[in-house]
Amino acid sequence: MRAQAMAPHIAERPVELLAEEEAKGELARLAIAIAHHDELYHAKDAPEISDADYDRLRQRNAAIEARFPELIRADSPSRRVGAAPAAGFSKVTHRVPMLSLENAFEEQDVRDFFATVRNFFRRPEDLARVAEDAIEIMAEPKIDGLSAALRYEDGRLVLGATRGDGVTGEDITANIRTLETVPERLAGHGWPDMIEIRGEVYMERAAFLAFNAERAAAGEQVFANPRNFAAGSLRQLDPSVTAKRPLKFFAYGWGETSAGFARSQAEALARFRDWGLSVNPHSRLCHGIAEVIAYHRDLAETRASLPYDIDGVVYKINDLDLQNRLGMRSRAPRWALAHKFAAEQAQTVMRDIMITVGRQGTLTPTAMLEPVTVGGVVVQRATLHNEDEIQRKDARIGDTVIVQRAGDVIPQIVGVVLERRPPGAEPYKFPEKCPVCDSLAVREPGMAARRCTGGLICAAQAVERLKHFVSRDNFDIEGLGEKHIGAFWQDGLIRQPGDIFRLKADVIAEREGWGEVSASKLIAAIDERRRISLDRFINALGIP
Ligand SMILES: [Zn+2]
Repeated sequence: MRAQAMAPHIAERPVELLAEEEAKGELARLAIAIAHHDELYHAKDAPEISDADYDRLRQRNAAIEARFPELIRADSPSRRVGAAPAAGFSKVTHRVPMLSLENAFEEQDVRDFFATVRNFFRRPEDLARVAEDAIEIMAEPKIDGLSAALRYEDGRLVLGATRGDGVTGEDITANIRTLETVPERLAGHGWPDMIEIRGEVYMERAAFLAFNAERAAAGEQVFANPRNFAAGSLRQLDPSVTAKRPLKFFAYGWGETSAGFARSQAEALARFRDWGLSVNPHSRLCHGIAEVIAYHRDLAETRASLPYDIDGVVYKINDLDLQNRLGMRSRAPRWALAHKFAAEQAQTVMRDIMITVGRQGTLTPTAMLEPVTVGGVVVQRATLHNEDEIQRKDARIGDTVIVQRAGDVIPQIVGVVLERRPPGAEPYKFPEKCPVCDSLAVREPGMAARRCTGGLICAAQAVERLKHFVSRDNFDIEGLGEKHIGAFWQDGLIRQPGDIFRLKADVIAEREGWGEVSASKLIAAIDERRRISLDRFINALGIP
């Protein structure tokens, strides 16, 4: 038999190398995959992949469709914006569709976008208005929340709806009324008899973390990020549940309206503010592309200090006359662009370095971070690997660090932003004593890790060893979790693995959280493990 080089899987093959049959198969696969992720994201608020990975699927789909336009499917993801409404809410048809925006990731994409805008016009007076150094662009932080539409008639809120798939959304009027930043009546004057105001419902990071912590303590499902929490909260069938969630709303646009009310995006936002709506104070009217790019860079660096998550900047051509003339493409307006931040990295402050002690006594450093959302997940700690890594990166407490997340791997610190180092930050000194038992922690020649020499007098090592002993791969004792091991050790019930087999039901039954039934169940589970295969036993003792 001859060894054969493995052909790369079709899903990884560059689009330009796909044969027509393969392209057809890829489009079918992508249609199913994207519909699946849309459903998880929009209807279940429980995404499985990061936004960046999702964007890559959509980009691949678009690239294949561009190369093989005759293969575009009737159910192509490029023809849909999001998911259809879930059961339980009545449907709302958006008379002016709520389209999504074209995305840009690189500066060059932004320049290309505005070059296309310039190419659209011919008259000298128009060209002067869209010139690279003069074009007026409203730049708005892109809140990572849930789009919603509020319909006001005679200044009164009559309908609230989610975006849904862009054409059909859900009637969430009762829920949206519970938001403090959504006025029941518009203030001031000058509003059209009928206007549908659009914006983003979001939750601030601190509120999200507090709620998630409460849910975790109560054993309930936790949410991956504030956006999912906001979406889940807004789409509660019981509005009294929504009312308890600290949701907020920023207005940034409009749909159907009975009369014009502004000549520019800036003027529209000012009107919204006059009418008592909340408008993002960080939005800025820029003049020329250079100003826009500078604003984006600035926001990318400071976004961790905002109380809510943003995932980019939305650029809108300020002049509504130019907007109207540019009009729409199939899925997105030609006058707006979402310039996203690099999705899987974020900057935040490292508040502390925590040292944990493992089963073999290894001291492992973990960065304790100011919470930040990286690729759709709130990150509060990241690995620093070991002593040498901290030194190599010269990571100091108080530093602004770059956090990176890749898939399900533990987030890592990839670098330090030296310009943001606070004055007086000292180089980190790795402890030479075990933080748990105070024994000497030594580093043997050639080893990366520093180890506690305390052995079994070290509580951390003893408890970790016991946890390993009862873990699923080893003795797998049902009902004896890590939490119990820690508590039993603390109270001196178990010091070494053999003690587990000497536990008494009556002693356990008297402990808080235990009763006669649960205690005798545990003893029965332990008894079941008195006979165990030799290899499991050796492994459980942690003998390498
Ligand atoms: Zn120790």
